[in-house]
Amino acid sequence: MTEWVEAKIKKIKIWTVHLFSIILEAPILPFYAGQFAKLRIKNKKKYINRVYSYVNEPKDKKLEFCIRLIPQGKMTNQLYNLLPGDSILITKQSNGFFTMFEIPKCKNLWMIATGTAIGPFCSILQDESELYKIKKIIILYAVSYVTELIYLPLIQKIKKKYKNRIIIQAIISRERHKKYITGRIPILLKSKKIENKIQYFINPTDTHIMLCGNPTMVKDTQHFLIKYKKLNKHLRRYPGHISIENYW
Ligand SMILES: Cc1cc2nc3c(=O)[nH]c(=O)nc-3n(C[C@H](O)[C@H](O)[C@H](O)COP(=O)(O)OP(=O)(O)OC[C@H]3O[C@@H](n4cnc5c(N)ncnc54)[C@H](O)[C@@H]3O)c2cc1C
Repeated sequence: MTEWVEAKIKKIKIWTVHLFSIILEAPILPFYAGQFAKLRIKNKKKYINRVYSYVNEPKDKKLEFCIRLIPQGKMTNQLYNLLPGDSILITKQSNGFFTMFEIPKCKNLWMIATGTAIGPFCSILQDESELYKIKKIIILYAVSYVTELIYLPLIQKIKKKYKNRIIIQAIISRERHKKYITGRIPILLKSKKIENKIQYFINPTDTHIMLCGNPTMVKDTQHFLIKYKKLNKHLRRYPGHISIENYW
Protein backbone atom coordinates (compact mmCIF):
# COMPACT_ATOMS: atom_id res chain seq x y z
CA MET A 1 0.00 0.00 0.00
CA THR A 2 1.22 3.52 -0.79
CA GLU A 3 2.63 5.27 2.26
CA TRP A 4 2.19 9.06 2.31
CA VAL A 5 4.18 11.54 4.39
CA GLU A 6 3.66 15.25 4.98
CA ALA A 7 5.67 17.63 2.81
CA LYS A 8 6.20 21.24 3.95
CA ILE A 9 6.47 23.80 1.16
CA LYS A 10 9.65 25.85 1.55
CA LYS A 11 9.63 27.89 -1.61
CA ILE A 12 7.78 28.38 -4.90
CA LYS A 13 9.83 29.74 -7.79
CA ILE A 14 7.73 31.27 -10.56
CA TRP A 15 9.84 31.21 -13.73
CA THR A 16 7.33 32.15 -16.44
CA VAL A 17 3.54 32.30 -16.67
CA HIS A 18 3.52 28.53 -17.26
CA LEU A 19 6.54 27.24 -15.39
CA PHE A 20 7.23 27.04 -11.70
CA SER A 21 9.23 24.92 -9.28
CA ILE A 22 8.24 23.84 -5.83
CA ILE A 23 10.79 23.18 -3.14
CA LEU A 24 9.70 21.14 -0.18
CA GLU A 25 10.98 19.11 2.73
CA ALA A 26 9.61 15.69 3.68
CA PRO A 27 10.82 12.56 5.49
CA ILE A 28 11.01 10.39 2.37
CA LEU A 29 13.15 7.28 1.91
CA PRO A 30 16.33 7.58 -0.18
CA PHE A 31 15.72 7.66 -3.93
CA TYR A 32 17.84 7.28 -7.07
CA ALA A 33 18.56 10.22 -9.37
CA GLY A 34 16.07 10.11 -12.26
CA GLN A 35 13.19 8.76 -10.17
CA PHE A 36 9.85 10.42 -9.43
CA ALA A 37 7.50 10.83 -6.48
CA LYS A 38 3.74 11.07 -6.33
CA LEU A 39 2.35 14.30 -4.86
CA ARG A 40 -1.13 14.40 -3.35
CA ILE A 41 -3.37 17.35 -2.60
CA LYS A 42 -6.97 17.69 -1.45
CA ASN A 43 -9.47 19.22 -3.87
CA LYS A 44 -13.13 19.57 -2.83
CA LYS A 45 -12.96 16.67 -0.34
CA LYS A 46 -11.25 14.46 -2.94
CA TYR A 47 -7.54 13.67 -3.26
CA ILE A 48 -5.70 14.25 -6.55
CA ASN A 49 -2.35 12.51 -7.14
CA ARG A 50 0.17 13.13 -9.89
CA VAL A 51 3.79 12.07 -10.36
CA TYR A 52 6.73 14.49 -10.63
CA SER A 53 10.44 13.87 -11.21
CA TYR A 54 13.02 15.15 -8.75
CA VAL A 55 15.30 17.93 -9.99
CA ASN A 56 17.55 17.79 -6.93
CA GLU A 57 20.21 15.19 -6.36
CA PRO A 58 19.31 12.43 -3.88
CA LYS A 59 21.46 13.72 -1.04
CA ASP A 60 19.73 17.15 -0.94
CA LYS A 61 17.28 17.61 1.94
CA LYS A 62 15.33 20.15 -0.14
CA LEU A 63 13.24 18.33 -2.76
CA GLU A 64 12.68 20.25 -5.97
CA PHE A 65 10.10 19.65 -8.71
CA CYS A 66 9.81 21.63 -11.93
CA ILE A 67 6.20 21.88 -13.06
CA ARG A 68 4.27 23.15 -16.05
CA LEU A 69 0.98 24.87 -15.23
CA ILE A 70 -1.66 23.17 -17.37
CA PRO A 71 -4.66 25.34 -18.29
CA GLN A 72 -7.60 23.75 -16.44
CA GLY A 73 -5.20 21.09 -15.09
CA LYS A 74 -6.56 19.73 -11.82
CA MET A 75 -3.29 19.25 -9.98
CA THR A 76 -0.97 21.91 -11.36
CA ASN A 77 -3.44 24.73 -10.63
CA GLN A 78 -3.54 23.63 -6.99
CA LEU A 79 0.24 23.30 -6.78
CA TYR A 80 0.75 26.72 -8.39
CA ASN A 81 -1.26 28.39 -5.62
CA LEU A 82 0.68 26.85 -2.74
CA LEU A 83 2.57 29.15 -0.40
CA PRO A 84 5.62 28.59 1.81
CA GLY A 85 4.45 26.95 5.03
CA ASP A 86 1.61 24.99 3.33
CA SER A 87 1.58 21.20 3.51
CA ILE A 88 0.83 18.56 0.90
CA LEU A 89 1.47 14.80 0.80
CA ILE A 90 4.24 12.92 -0.95
CA THR A 91 4.95 9.21 -1.33
CA LYS A 92 7.55 8.01 1.16
CA GLN A 93 8.95 5.66 -1.47
CA SER A 94 10.02 6.97 -4.90
CA ASN A 95 9.70 5.05 -8.14
CA GLY A 96 10.95 4.77 -11.70
CA PHE A 97 13.55 3.07 -13.85
CA PHE A 98 14.80 6.15 -15.69
CA THR A 99 18.04 6.02 -13.72
CA MET A 100 21.70 5.50 -14.52
CA PHE A 101 21.54 2.01 -12.99
CA GLU A 102 19.50 0.96 -16.00
CA ILE A 103 21.88 2.50 -18.54
CA PRO A 104 24.67 0.32 -19.92
CA LYS A 105 28.30 1.50 -20.07
CA CYS A 106 28.74 3.51 -23.28
CA LYS A 107 30.89 6.13 -24.94
CA ASN A 108 28.27 8.78 -25.74
CA LEU A 109 25.09 9.22 -23.71
CA TRP A 110 22.49 11.55 -25.20
CA MET A 111 20.03 13.05 -22.71
CA ILE A 112 17.08 14.44 -24.66
CA ALA A 113 14.41 16.41 -22.79
CA THR A 114 11.43 18.58 -23.60
CA GLY A 115 10.40 21.29 -21.10
CA THR A 116 10.05 20.12 -17.51
CA ALA A 117 11.59 16.76 -18.41
CA ILE A 118 15.01 18.35 -17.96
CA GLY A 119 14.33 17.66 -14.24
CA PRO A 120 15.46 14.01 -14.03
CA PHE A 121 18.60 14.84 -16.03
CA CYS A 122 19.47 17.65 -13.58
CA SER A 123 19.17 15.12 -10.76
CA ILE A 124 21.31 12.52 -12.59
CA LEU A 125 24.00 15.07 -13.55
CA GLN A 126 24.31 16.41 -10.01
CA ASP A 127 24.51 12.93 -8.49
CA GLU A 128 27.62 11.84 -10.47
CA SER A 129 27.83 8.40 -8.83
CA GLU A 130 26.98 6.39 -11.96
CA LEU A 131 28.41 8.77 -14.57
CA TYR A 132 31.88 7.19 -14.47
CA LYS A 133 30.68 4.65 -17.07
CA ILE A 134 30.02 7.36 -19.69
CA LYS A 135 32.70 9.18 -21.68
CA LYS A 136 30.67 12.02 -23.17
CA ILE A 137 27.24 13.38 -22.27
CA ILE A 138 25.25 15.24 -24.91
CA ILE A 139 22.28 17.18 -23.54
CA LEU A 140 19.52 18.33 -25.88
CA TYR A 141 17.24 20.68 -23.93
CA ALA A 142 14.16 21.51 -26.02
CA VAL A 143 11.60 24.17 -25.14
CA SER A 144 9.09 26.34 -26.98
CA TYR A 145 10.55 29.76 -26.03
CA VAL A 146 14.00 30.91 -24.86
CA THR A 147 12.57 32.07 -21.51
CA GLU A 148 11.67 28.44 -20.80
CA LEU A 149 15.33 27.36 -20.60
CA ILE A 150 15.02 27.71 -16.84
CA TYR A 151 17.52 25.03 -15.84
CA LEU A 152 20.13 25.99 -18.45
CA PRO A 153 22.23 27.93 -15.89
CA LEU A 154 22.27 24.87 -13.61
CA ILE A 155 23.41 22.47 -16.34
CA GLN A 156 25.99 25.02 -17.53
CA LYS A 157 27.34 25.15 -13.98
CA ILE A 158 27.49 21.33 -13.85
CA LYS A 159 29.26 21.34 -17.24
CA LYS A 160 32.09 23.48 -15.80
CA LYS A 161 32.77 20.77 -13.24
CA TYR A 162 32.93 18.05 -15.90
CA LYS A 163 35.07 20.24 -18.20
CA ASN A 164 34.77 18.94 -21.78
CA ARG A 165 32.76 15.81 -20.95
CA ILE A 166 29.42 17.57 -21.42
CA ILE A 167 27.93 19.16 -24.54
CA ILE A 168 24.74 21.20 -24.18
CA GLN A 169 22.52 22.08 -27.13
CA ALA A 170 19.36 24.08 -26.50
CA ILE A 171 16.58 23.77 -29.06
CA ILE A 172 13.74 26.26 -29.41
CA SER A 173 10.61 25.30 -31.33
CA ARG A 174 8.52 28.48 -31.48
CA GLU A 175 10.96 31.34 -31.96
CA ARG A 176 14.35 32.03 -33.47
CA HIS A 177 17.47 32.85 -31.47
CA LYS A 178 20.99 33.09 -32.88
CA LYS A 179 22.52 31.07 -30.03
CA TYR A 180 20.20 28.09 -30.36
CA ILE A 181 18.87 25.70 -32.98
CA THR A 182 15.24 26.24 -34.01
CA GLY A 183 12.90 23.34 -34.70
CA ARG A 184 11.68 20.01 -33.39
CA ILE A 185 14.01 17.25 -32.32
CA PRO A 186 12.97 14.38 -34.66
CA ILE A 187 13.09 16.68 -37.70
CA LEU A 188 16.41 18.24 -36.65
CA LEU A 189 17.90 14.77 -36.22
CA LYS A 190 16.62 13.65 -39.60
CA SER A 191 18.14 16.69 -41.29
CA LYS A 192 21.43 16.06 -39.39
CA LYS A 193 21.33 19.67 -38.18
CA ILE A 194 22.07 18.73 -34.57
CA GLU A 195 24.82 16.21 -35.32
CA ASN A 196 26.52 18.56 -37.78
CA LYS A 197 26.44 21.42 -35.28
CA ILE A 198 27.85 19.51 -32.31
CA GLN A 199 30.00 17.11 -34.37
CA TYR A 200 28.86 14.00 -32.51
CA PHE A 201 27.13 11.30 -34.50
CA ILE A 202 24.58 8.75 -33.36
CA ASN A 203 25.50 5.13 -34.12
CA PRO A 204 24.73 1.70 -32.65
CA THR A 205 28.33 1.10 -31.57
CA ASP A 206 28.91 3.80 -29.01
CA THR A 207 25.61 5.60 -28.38
CA HIS A 208 22.88 5.33 -25.75
CA ILE A 209 19.89 7.71 -25.84
CA MET A 210 17.61 8.73 -22.97
CA LEU A 211 14.35 10.38 -24.12
CA CYS A 212 12.10 12.13 -21.64
CA GLY A 213 8.99 14.32 -21.75
CA ASN A 214 6.46 15.01 -24.49
CA PRO A 215 5.17 11.63 -25.78
CA THR A 216 5.06 12.86 -29.39
CA MET A 217 8.75 13.84 -29.24
CA VAL A 218 9.56 10.50 -27.58
CA LYS A 219 7.59 8.46 -30.13
CA ASP A 220 8.82 10.30 -33.24
CA THR A 221 12.45 10.42 -32.09
CA GLN A 222 12.39 6.75 -31.17
CA HIS A 223 10.89 5.90 -34.55
CA PHE A 224 13.65 7.88 -36.32
CA LEU A 225 16.43 6.27 -34.25
CA ILE A 226 15.17 2.75 -34.92
CA LYS A 227 14.49 3.27 -38.62
CA TYR A 228 17.43 5.45 -39.67
CA LYS A 229 20.12 4.90 -37.03
CA LYS A 230 19.58 1.18 -36.44
CA LEU A 231 19.24 1.60 -32.68
CA ASN A 232 16.98 -0.60 -30.54
CA LYS A 233 14.85 0.01 -27.49
CA HIS A 234 16.75 -0.86 -24.31
CA LEU A 235 15.14 -3.49 -22.10
CA ARG A 236 16.68 -5.32 -19.16
CA ARG A 237 16.32 -8.66 -20.92
CA TYR A 238 17.31 -7.31 -24.36
CA PRO A 239 19.97 -4.61 -24.02
CA GLY A 240 19.64 -1.86 -26.60
CA HIS A 241 20.29 1.85 -27.04
CA ILE A 242 17.09 3.79 -26.27
CA SER A 243 15.59 4.38 -22.78
CA ILE A 244 12.37 6.37 -22.52
CA GLU A 245 10.09 8.13 -20.03
CA ASN A 246 6.79 9.63 -21.21
CA TYR A 247 5.24 12.43 -19.13
CA TRP A 248 1.68 11.83 -20.31
C1 LIG B 1 7.02 9.58 -14.84
C2 LIG B 1 6.38 10.96 -14.91
C3 LIG B 1 7.07 12.05 -14.43
C4 LIG B 1 6.51 13.33 -14.53
N1 LIG B 1 7.22 14.41 -14.09
C5 LIG B 1 6.71 15.65 -14.27
C6 LIG B 1 7.47 16.79 -13.88
O1 LIG B 1 8.58 16.68 -13.32
N2 LIG B 1 6.93 18.02 -14.14
C7 LIG B 1 5.69 18.18 -14.73
O2 LIG B 1 5.24 19.32 -14.93
N3 LIG B 1 4.96 17.10 -15.08
C8 LIG B 1 5.42 15.85 -14.85
N4 LIG B 1 4.65 14.78 -15.18
C9 LIG B 1 3.24 15.01 -15.59
C10 LIG B 1 2.36 15.13 -14.33
O3 LIG B 1 2.28 13.87 -13.69
C11 LIG B 1 0.92 15.58 -14.63
O4 LIG B 1 0.38 14.80 -15.66
C12 LIG B 1 0.83 17.07 -15.01
O5 LIG B 1 1.39 17.87 -14.00
C13 LIG B 1 -0.59 17.51 -15.30
O6 LIG B 1 -1.38 17.51 -14.14
P1 LIG B 1 -2.79 18.27 -14.10
O7 LIG B 1 -3.66 17.51 -13.14
O8 LIG B 1 -2.61 19.72 -13.82
O9 LIG B 1 -3.34 18.15 -15.57
P2 LIG B 1 -4.41 17.12 -16.17
O10 LIG B 1 -5.76 17.68 -15.95
O11 LIG B 1 -4.12 15.76 -15.65
O12 LIG B 1 -3.99 17.25 -17.73
C14 LIG B 1 -3.06 16.37 -18.32
C15 LIG B 1 -2.62 16.92 -19.68
O13 LIG B 1 -1.69 17.97 -19.49
C16 LIG B 1 -0.62 17.89 -20.46
N5 LIG B 1 0.65 17.74 -19.70
C17 LIG B 1 0.89 16.94 -18.62
N6 LIG B 1 2.17 17.13 -18.15
C18 LIG B 1 2.74 18.06 -18.95
C19 LIG B 1 4.03 18.67 -18.95
N7 LIG B 1 4.97 18.37 -18.04
N8 LIG B 1 4.29 19.58 -19.94
C20 LIG B 1 3.33 19.91 -20.85
N9 LIG B 1 2.09 19.37 -20.88
C21 LIG B 1 1.78 18.45 -19.95
C22 LIG B 1 -0.96 16.71 -21.35
O14 LIG B 1 -1.64 17.18 -22.47
C23 LIG B 1 -1.86 15.87 -20.50
O15 LIG B 1 -2.73 15.08 -21.24
C24 LIG B 1 5.21 13.50 -15.09
C25 LIG B 1 4.51 12.36 -15.54
C26 LIG B 1 5.09 11.12 -15.47
C27 LIG B 1 4.30 9.93 -15.97
